[in-house]
Amino acid sequence: MPIQLSNSVKYLKGVGPTRAAILEERGIVTVADLLAYLPFRYEDRLHFTRIADAAPGQVHTIYAEVSTAGSTVRFGRSSRAIFHVAVRDASGVLHVKIFHGGYLEGKLKVGQRLVLHGKVEIDVYHGGRREMVNPQMELTGAADGESADSTEIGRIVPIYEALGGVSSRMLRRIIYQVLENFDGAIPDALPAELRERYGFPTRRDALLFAHFPPKNESIDLLNNYRSPAQIRLIFEEFFYYQLAIARAKLSGKRHRGISMQVRDDKVREALKRILPFKPTAAQKRVLLEIAADLERPFPMQRLLEGDVGSGKTIVALEAATIVIENGYQVALMAPTEILAAQHYLSARRVFAPAGYGTDLIVSGQKKAERAAALKRLHDGETQIVVGTHALIEDPVIFKKLGLVIVDEQHRFGVLQRKRLMEKGATPHVLVMTATPIPRTLALTLYGDLDLSVIDELPPGRSPIETTWRDESELAGVWEFVRREIAAGRQAFVVYPVIEESKQELKAAMAEHDRLATKIFPKLKIGLLHGRLKTEEKDAVMEQFRRNEIQLLVSTTVIEVGVDVPNSTIMIVEHADRFGLAQLHQLRGRIGRGKEKSYCILVASKKITGEGRERIEAMVATSNGFEIAERDLQQRGPGEFFGTRQSGDAAFSVAQPLRDHELLDLARKEAMALAEHPDRAAEVIKQLEAVSPSWRKRYQLASVG
Ligand code: ADP
Ligand code: MG
Repeated sequence: MPIQLSNSVKYLKGVGPTRAAILEERGIVTVADLLAYLPFRYEDRLHFTRIADAAPGQVHTIYAEVSTAGSTVRFGRSSRAIFHVAVRDASGVLHVKIFHGGYLEGKLKVGQRLVLHGKVEIDVYHGGRREMVNPQMELTGAADGESADSTEIGRIVPIYEALGGVSSRMLRRIIYQVLENFDGAIPDALPAELRERYGFPTRRDALLFAHFPPKNESIDLLNNYRSPAQIRLIFEEFFYYQLAIARAKLSGKRHRGISMQVRDDKVREALKRILPFKPTAAQKRVLLEIAADLERPFPMQRLLEGDVGSGKTIVALEAATIVIENGYQVALMAPTEILAAQHYLSARRVFAPAGYGTDLIVSGQKKAERAAALKRLHDGETQIVVGTHALIEDPVIFKKLGLVIVDEQHRFGVLQRKRLMEKGATPHVLVMTATPIPRTLALTLYGDLDLSVIDELPPGRSPIETTWRDESELAGVWEFVRREIAAGRQAFVVYPVIEESKQELKAAMAEHDRLATKIFPKLKIGLLHGRLKTEEKDAVMEQFRRNEIQLLVSTTVIEVGVDVPNSTIMIVEHADRFGLAQLHQLRGRIGRGKEKSYCILVASKKITGEGRERIEAMVATSNGFEIAERDLQQRGPGEFFGTRQSGDAAFSVAQPLRDHELLDLARKEAMALAEHPDRAAEVIKQLEAVSPSWRKRYQLASVG
């Protein structure tokens, strides 16, 4: 039966209801979806390494047969079983160890053929014989010695990420069979002109070759995602996404906005009056960029990016000043109540001499207080209102909203941003983020926003010393804290959870009590966590700010924005439990004054895996951009797109970090095409035919 793109995967040979359900769960419903599921790696099974020639220290692909059925060696609990098996080819024997391989017991038959892919090592415990530890193994042919089929050897073989119970090998067979029996067109939405200019293969050829590359294709290019077929497929994903963004951006430009006076003397003087210090060169440059936007008769849509502590707040308040002097109101939206309260206090401090009405609106507020604030806002007595997402709720009515400032964007959905914008006719929008997103990625994520970067820290900061301490070294850590506090400094101690739980993690509440009674009975110790009421949180922060509290025990509620220059110590317990960006944000709470600061990450020195990598990265660098790149590499850009559900990811092959050159190219081409709205619309229409699921993706992009 000929197969077509719109066919359900359910009816494909080798799929069946159980597997179909698994595939569907991963967003693979039709043949089109299936073909878009590309291999993540390729193996050269045309040129196997002979066992005798397999040099230690290198990765080899070996085709062999089982020579002993294998056995399991267990250490104590059965989960730590290591499975040993020997394989041979005409040239020799190779030993194989599989950790946690107990499940293989009795499964391998002597004579059965298999492909092994992995690094060959020397086994020092067995006279230096060669072995493979945890190789990728794939049995070929049927169990009873039947020969391998043409999808398994004699070609460059695609390796897929297994989906639930659907193995790479099954996927390969299913996809091969689809391509063999495929009958029908594979629509291509990429404009022919582009395809010719870049020499891209058609979508049909690209898919064919990405699944089953021709024999002469370079295995290195394939594994680096740089074969012509892969390049085209990556480019295409970026291109459509950027096209959606470019269209959104152009439509924003078509709206009329409020053109502000930025050059008159009144504005200049107001700016001078509020500035508490000499701005850095980067702050000055960025303010000029913002002022130029405010002056234009289109709404500003700008992203202000800068590492923690780079001084974004004052720049935002300068922008607010311009707008207020023009007779408009400003809304400043923060991700947490603590941060909103803090911004409110600094805005009030900065704006008091100017006489601007400043208000706070949060959900934890007393009813009467809130009602009064709402009224002042509505009547235009308030010039700047600070708040959390409570600001986008319906009862909040502005008299004349001119500027919306959103702090720490990564916690705010794009939709929320839109909603707030709708409160003013077309206010200017300034988004601030402390996640130093690499520039290319920022273009992908916030492609509809113009980008300003503060790439310089205010003068007089001393670098932060970051160390890793084992839990057994805590006594020494407390001793150090005691000395620093005696010298007049303040410290944070952060825990991953509020209350004790089964997880055996130390919790903020219990540790606060222990520190206050046992370790530092003479000090004033505060406790801060998300379950406190707004006033309670404010009170604690205010005491800490005034140094009435010397040590603040907290959960990650202090992660963003908290600014107390006298605090010089940040201790994070169970540091391996925190994400890299989170740790960097926490560290950003110190090093804000002229005294030397210390970030002490506490976690067992025995930990392995990603937790260890994160701590090591923190110790190695304090450059936020480097941290962000590592974080993206560890967690993948999916996290940054806000929607974490699988299937919603913006790209399936493309990876913004790895493929940033292609991203740049695609962005350039997409912008150019978007200038011709009818041609762009045509491409987007054709996209439907390429893959129905791309409609969702496209919407995701156009919201931005
Ligand atoms: P972030 O970019 O993380 O929001 P902030 O705006 O909170 O950083 O600024 C961090 C600290 O640096 C604050 O205490 C702020 O007052 C101070 N600061 C900002 N700009 C300057 C400057 N140009 N000179 C001196 N101190 C500055
Ligand atoms: Mg900030």
